Amino acid sequence: MDKKVYITRKIPEAGLKLLREKGILFDMGDSKNPPTQKEIIKALKKKPYDGVISFLTDKLDKNVFDACPTVKVFANFAVGFDNVDLEEIKKRNILVSNTPGTSGTAVAEHTVAFMLTLTTRIDEGDRFMRAGKYKGWDPDLLIGTDMKGKTIGLIGAGQIGTEVAKILHYGFGSNVIYSDIAPNPTLEAITGPTRKETAEILREADIVSLHVPLLPSTHHLINKESLATMKKTAFLVNTSRGAVIDEKALVEALKDKVIRGAAIDVYEFEPKLTKGLTKLSNIVLTPHIASARQSARDMMAEIAAKNIISVFETGKIINSIIK
Ligand code: NAD
Repeated sequence: MDKKVYITRKIPEAGLKLLREKGILFDMGDSKNPPTQKEIIKALKKKPYDGVISFLTDKLDKNVFDACPTVKVFANFAVGFDNVDLEEIKKRNILVSNTPGTSGTAVAEHTVAFMLTLTTRIDEGDRFMRAGKYKGWDPDLLIGTDMKGKTIGLIGAGQIGTEVAKILHYGFGSNVIYSDIAPNPTLEAITGPTRKETAEILREADIVSLHVPLLPSTHHLINKESLATMKKTAFLVNTSRGAVIDEKALVEALKDKVIRGAAIDVYEFEPKLTKGLTKLSNIVLTPHIASARQSARDMMAEIAAKNIISVFETGKIINSIIK
């Protein structure tokens, strides 16, 4: 196949193998850090590429599309696609795919690990020990919270939310409630009819966990006002996208003990962190690693490659981000 693909950063061999088998030529960026848009544009201008494999850190907008008019397909190596200017791709008939279903298990497990970190206070215990503060068993030391019987509210219950619900329901005996723009029969087959309004989830849950895509409708869904409606004892978990939370409002809420604690994997201004975030002792932070499993990365590479191949062979994309 006489086609050329540009891959903005290294992807696993599992995807490259599929491209090679079809005789598709590719160039791949080798930067460890996310390339700037300027660097991506410079690379894309070198050859008349037919397709691109992009990352969630690559802002795909007018500037990029103008730089590579021959590219008809972008395969985004991510479940989320908030890095893509949806209006521009519709206007230009550019096909863009994501990698749905590749990281449900990993992200759900990370989400539950976050919940357990908050309820068991493992991170605080670790810091306590390293600081040499342990003087012997103390019945009042670092008292945690049971997961059993607690109400866990999921905001957004698609693939990842459903996996989280399964673990919580079967594993811990928690009461799972959820809000979503659409009902989720798979989840309700497990939990019963527990779909509620987002405002009710915020008011009723002992732990609120976010699993919505970042869209105009979900931007700053968690803000000063919504945080104020949560229980004072509640925890907030976010493995979706940073800007679903107004991070400045979260820092203030945690400082003022409006809620008890939070755990987040994603950041509003990634990789920058909002001032004050790392100074708080009631938040757990991880560096956007919820899906970081080789199995997930391999699957993502394969799906990205398959979408590119499908467009080259049939003109059709498999996992379009436009439904
Ligand atoms: P999904 O599309 O299966 O589920 C998203 C759900 O959100 C859907 O059920 C949808 O109906 C619902 N939704 C959309 N708008 C909503 C709104 N305004 N209010 C309530 N619900 C709404 O996606 P998924 O695979 O479950 O992934 C969810 C998000 O997790 C992704 O969009 C991505 O941003 C993020 N993610 C993060 C990581 C990570 O490494 N931290 C990895 C994978 C995915």
